[in-house]
Amino acid sequence: MIIIMNKACSDEQIAAVEGKVKAAGMQLNISRGIERTVLGLIGDELVVDKELIEILPGVEKVIRVMKPYKIVSRESQSENSIIDIKGIKLGGNQIQVIGGPCSVETPAQMDAAAQGVVAAGCKMLRGGAFKPRTSPYSFQGLGVEGLELMREAADKHGLPMVTELMDVRQLDYFLQYGVDVIQIGTRNMQNFDLLKEVGRLKVPVILKRGMSATIKEWLMSAEYIAAGGNHNIIFCERGVRSFETAYRNMLDVTAIPVLKRETHLPVIVDPSHAGGKAWMVPALTRAAVAAGADGLLIEMHPSPCDAWCDADQALNPQELKTLVNDVGAIAKVLGRELG
Ligand code: PEP
Ligand code: MN
Repeated sequence: MIIIMNKACSDEQIAAVEGKVKAAGMQLNISRGIERTVLGLIGDELVVDKELIEILPGVEKVIRVMKPYKIVSRESQSENSIIDIKGIKLGGNQIQVIGGPCSVETPAQMDAAAQGVVAAGCKMLRGGAFKPRTSPYSFQGLGVEGLELMREAADKHGLPMVTELMDVRQLDYFLQYGVDVIQIGTRNMQNFDLLKEVGRLKVPVILKRGMSATIKEWLMSAEYIAAGGNHNIIFCERGVRSFETAYRNMLDVTAIPVLKRETHLPVIVDPSHAGGKAWMVPALTRAAVAAGADGLLIEMHPSPCDAWCDADQALNPQELKTLVNDVGAIAKVLGRELG
């Protein structure tokens, strides 16, 4: 952290800043120039509240040198983290596709979905048992029964299951049914108490980007999970709110290389909730892979027009298979491979 004092600052004001900084356990290097006095902090600057220094008399400006996120930062680990989900590796050279319906509906639907996921060459099954719906009158998910149905279908077809956790009160059920990857949805990206709870586990977490979250806020949310001890975090870009109405959300492709530079953790993309229409999903998927995504989260329903939720953005099993083939071809050009 660098503290720039204003031109007219007094020695007493510099001493007051020094006292505050030393009380926080840091050392100070004072550099007196002709125009300005600059104070350089030595130590862990994250323990010092920037605003508490900025309000001190005589201080003009405070500049942080370190990133506010530590564990998730690439500065803390230069090589990519590879997350192991029941032997399936995410974050390495392989690109993983997670497929499945928006919500868990019936045993037959989940069985057909899991079958379609395997036939398409995907390695993990998604599906929501607890659904965050805009309207309280829309289908809210089957709840615990949905976890049970999904576990059955996933086990029958040898797939790990990925499902969204909305509330800490659901956590015991998630552990009971051995949820393999916990999804934290867009609406909960900054639910810090929920993040702290999943931070205490070892279960991999997909952290979706908040619909208007900056990349820095998103990284800080991941830091909450990591700070608790759970470093198995997967970022998922799912589009951000924009002025455009032609699609559901604007897929922020630029976020992929930015995140890959800022963090060692894997980055996946959900093209379904970005576009919001099935016909947009292939183009967005191809762009995501080309931009360096480590995986994809794609909605697929055995019969999209009968889906209880997000029907218009679901691919059918054949469309998913065709798309996964494309992913494999693009991966190959990039020296990567399909998981
Ligand atoms: C979902 O994946 O089912 C979902 C609700 O996504 P998001 O949180 O990105 O809206
Ligand atoms: Mn959905």
